[in-house]
Amino acid sequence: MRVDEYRLGMKAGRQTTLRRPTAVSGIGVHSGAPATLTILPAEADTGIVFVRCGTNGQPDREIVANVRAVTATEFATVLGDAAGPLCSTAEHVLAAMSGLGVDNAIIEIDGPEVPIMDGSAAAFVDAIDQAGLITLPVPRRYIRILKPVRVVSGESSGELRPHPQGFRIELEIDFNHPLIGRQQVAYDVAPDTFRRELSRARTFGFMRDVAKLWSAGYALGASFDNTLVINEDRLLNPEGLRFADEFARHKALDAIGDLALAGAPLLGAYRSVRGGHKLNHAVLSALMADPSAWVLVDGPEIRPEIRQETRQESRNEAPRRVTRGHADLATGLVAPAYGPDVS
Ligand SMILES: [Zn+2]
Repeated sequence: MRVDEYRLGMKAGRQTTLRRPTAVSGIGVHSGAPATLTILPAEADTGIVFVRCGTNGQPDREIVANVRAVTATEFATVLGDAAGPLCSTAEHVLAAMSGLGVDNAIIEIDGPEVPIMDGSAAAFVDAIDQAGLITLPVPRRYIRILKPVRVVSGESSGELRPHPQGFRIELEIDFNHPLIGRQQVAYDVAPDTFRRELSRARTFGFMRDVAKLWSAGYALGASFDNTLVINEDRLLNPEGLRFADEFARHKALDAIGDLALAGAPLLGAYRSVRGGHKLNHAVLSALMADPSAWVLVDGPEIRPEIRQETRQESRNEAPRRVTRGHADLATGLVAPAYGPDVS
């Protein structure tokens, strides 16, 4: 990683939001339902908030994207609350927000599931890049990992551990399939590495699982346009792979999205072996359940001249106010609603 990324990019220590609203439309990979997702600027300490709108006269529902909002992790990460699921397959847009260093945003969605687009985070990255980011005159708050937290389930394991600088991901998959086999990736995650190496890696699935998935109500929107489809010995998509290890890269992308539900950027390293959404969620829940394993730290102090410049920027594009979000970090994250479950 280049040093100037730390000074100028997502590690600079101040919170960010979008410069202007941006939108993405498509269908959900599991539901097949169309949805438009509009990402709006938000003020500091909002965090990422999903707002489900357009439900036939029902009031809009709002949910803060954090680990306590996860209601399901089968095949995708689903956010919801006591009233039920609110938004399915949140992981790729969350990965884009986290990977590009967007701290605050309102994500309005008018359907039950985030559009799958091409199966990667590329469309969300493009939308955010088109809108651009502004920094806000408030220090970024990080979660620094103080000691290893590990979850093992059968042959899967996941661990968050201290790391000297920034956020690192190390991910290994091992599929008994000639096209995939054992793949390992490791990245120090910063906006340009995320954009270049991870954001374009696509969702994948096996032909042999399709009938089972369909009968369970999953993958109803899946197609060659949004999923790498693998039969017994080869890839069926005519365009081929974007990376030889696209499968492991996509798993890393998923993990970045799932770990974005920490509610603040992590300072640490995550290692996942044969993992998935369920494991990612279990490790993050285990971290939050152990207050001795992490501490909240603020970004560097802001110089006065930068603060003034930022005020001017944000006067033109007043971020939308919401009632809750990151602000509950200091008091709220210690007690998750439930413990890890990776059975
Ligand atoms: Zn995924």
